[in-house]
Amino acid sequence: MRNLTVRNGRIIDPAADRDETGDLFVVEGRFSENPPPNGCEEINARGLVVAPGLIDIHVHLREPGQIQKETIASGSHAAAAGGFTSIVCMPNTDPPADNPSTITLITDRIRDSARINVYPAGAITKNLNGEEMAPIGSMVQSGIVAITDDGHCVQNHELMRRAVEYARMFDLAVFDHCQDYNMVGNGVMHEGYWSTVLGLAGWPRTGEEIMVARDILLADLCKSRIHCQHLSSGGSVRLLRDARTRGIQITGEICPHHIALTDELVSSFNTNYKMNPPLRAQEDVDALIEGVADGTITVLASDHAPHAFFEKEVEFDRAPFGILGLETELALFLTILVHQRKAIDLKRLITLYTINPATLTRLPKGTLKPGADADITFIDPDLEWVYRKEESLSRSRNTPFDGWKLKGRAVRTIVRGETVWELPAAHLDRSLSGS
Ligand SMILES: [Zn+2]
Repeated sequence: MRNLTVRNGRIIDPAADRDETGDLFVVEGRFSENPPPNGCEEINARGLVVAPGLIDIHVHLREPGQIQKETIASGSHAAAAGGFTSIVCMPNTDPPADNPSTITLITDRIRDSARINVYPAGAITKNLNGEEMAPIGSMVQSGIVAITDDGHCVQNHELMRRAVEYARMFDLAVFDHCQDYNMVGNGVMHEGYWSTVLGLAGWPRTGEEIMVARDILLADLCKSRIHCQHLSSGGSVRLLRDARTRGIQITGEICPHHIALTDELVSSFNTNYKMNPPLRAQEDVDALIEGVADGTITVLASDHAPHAFFEKEVEFDRAPFGILGLETELALFLTILVHQRKAIDLKRLITLYTINPATLTRLPKGTLKPGADADITFIDPDLEWVYRKEESLSRSRNTPFDGWKLKGRAVRTIVRGETVWELPAAHLDRSLSGS
């Protein structure tokens, strides 16, 4: 628990509708209206944005069971380097996080080894197989902040309805990986021109949209909140826009790869272009960005999905889905949404990474208001740099963004007043001289 003064930063706290240059005080690990006693640490934040600690609600940490890909320690370190102070880890571990004992095992590991705040999500169904509901109430007591079968999707609408109704009793959000199994079949890439040319099985947009429509109907029926994860299709955005206009408690997130890349890239057969849902067409990219710009999409996330080198180094159809995300997501969204497309400003981007995900999961985070935990992300929105996968703090290297020139990044991450990651000075100098 630390005391700290941050001087001269551009303080952006969307939860308090604040954007001004000033000082920020931390007393015993919490934000304070009054400065701490003399002699405490001071940080000069001139030229930097001082934001509430960023939150990523869609991260795969692979522990327990697949620690060759990632651990809670390595993944949370990578998250800190991406500017994140809080993350939600997905339950598709081995064994799956579908019962209170496994949740307790995970929270124990978090307490022992995590560098930042890590919150577990529990499964909707036992073994993530969509057949029998997991013990949601006892998992809530063990510390889950959401339920999801991510990686899988509950196909039985009646079972999904009961899960949403059950979650409502605990004011718990249900996250959904929207995929209709019959529509998608064994699809490995977007169904369209390129899947035909390449002779790969297609994963049609409707395979996602049908489940988004199902979730809208259930959110309305159950009067409870459902959050659609990693949306990829323009049609999903249109469905969400209409439903939200009617006041239904449905939300959606997008991930950077779905606006940075398109399905044409799969023609390289590089398995780092294989994700679920798949990369889609330019019209989908444009619709997703429009959805962010008009407020339909309210959460940004990574779907950080580490895989070992040997697992991705196989034929395209046989490779696992997913890529790294924690260390590149903020920079990609800044580069594309703020700098290139000018779809949103910096304050709005911070909203989508702080108070919005905090509100969805009911986490007491995402603001710089006095009394809140002093989680802070320092951002240089204009710093030009090159992402090098060898420098990643993750245990895996499956990324399509190696060597990309990006604009903007986090430069320091603070959790409860303690610096948990800082951009090495050498890196800062090199980046600046290279720009
Ligand atoms: Zn998923």
